[in-house]
Amino acid sequence: MNIIVDYDACEANGLCEGFAPDIFQLDDEDRLHVLAQPDEHSADRVRQAVLACPKVALSLAESPD
Ligand code: SF4
Repeated sequence: MNIIVDYDACEANGLCEGFAPDIFQLDDEDRLHVLAQPDEHSADRVRQAVLACPKVALSLAESPD
């Protein structure tokens, strides 16, 4: 599963960081960074973050298996 960020849509409100601070981080210039791709420990929180983003700036590409 890979996280895709639409940086043009992101308004840097930090909601995703609240769900998964180990994955999403805003820097001092309000730019969002994806620190790691989700694993089995963070996948549920990442899915919640994707659903919670008010700008629909996050999406997930599921890995085929
Ligand atoms: S929740 Fe959405 S708009 Fe807010 S920082 Fe995360 S990606 Fe950006």
